[in-house]
Amino acid sequence: KKIVIAIDGFSSTGKSTIAKQLANNLNYIYVDTGAMYRAVTYFALKNELIGEDFFKQEELINRLGEITITFKFNIEVGFAEVYLNGKNIESDIRTLKVSKFVSPVATLSEVRKKLVEQQQLMGKDKGIVMDGRDIGTVVFPDAELKIFMTASAETRAKRRYKELLDRGHQLSYDEVLENVTTRDHIDSTREDSPLVKADDAIEIDNSDMTIDEQLNRLIELAKE
Ligand code: C5P
Repeated sequence: KKIVIAIDGFSSTGKSTIAKQLANNLNYIYVDTGAMYRAVTYFALKNELIGEDFFKQEELINRLGEITITFKFNIEVGFAEVYLNGKNIESDIRTLKVSKFVSPVATLSEVRKKLVEQQQLMGKDKGIVMDGRDIGTVVFPDAELKIFMTASAETRAKRRYKELLDRGHQLSYDEVLENVTTRDHIDSTREDSPLVKADDAIEIDNSDMTIDEQLNRLIELAKE
């Protein structure tokens, strides 16, 4: 029986790494909801609706109709990449710049409403692993399996730092740590759908777990 698996947690807890592998293992669809908030942020940056000292919230809200987000499986990388209005933006949304502005964009209720509706449609046929911040609480409150991933802030910043360096970005560890902690703060204190553990979610602290250990644990839980 195919189910809905919701994986939530703070930034850089390794949710997407494990969610992708879990989905491939179970032959499920994987949806990275963070990529959708990043896509809206990328659109806002491109159109100068947000920047260092300004945020044209009303204009962004009025222009949400111009944004179409889709996913397409890329067999070479083994997961579905994100597209904005037909253009592959998978690597454009992983910059520190997008990471800096994504949490303010994600506080807007109109943005959340649009994305949550699309996410619910994508999951209606089950057989889905979705990762984000509000999947077990808002998007799929009835998900059969809910995971809440945690890891220490330093572990998370180190992982994200290494990942960005590997992608060829030049930045300091302190900038990454600052971004991760600021995002966590905005995400958990915003009014609409704050990041909280669902009552029925299983918490997994993966600070000292290998990918394989996490994957095995999740496969077992999914089969229960
Ligand atoms: O998962 P990722 O780190 O790429 O998410 C980027 C940002 O998007 C988060 O820090 C959060 O502000 C927002 N987000 C959200 N709800 C989700 C997924 C992501 O608010 N379901």
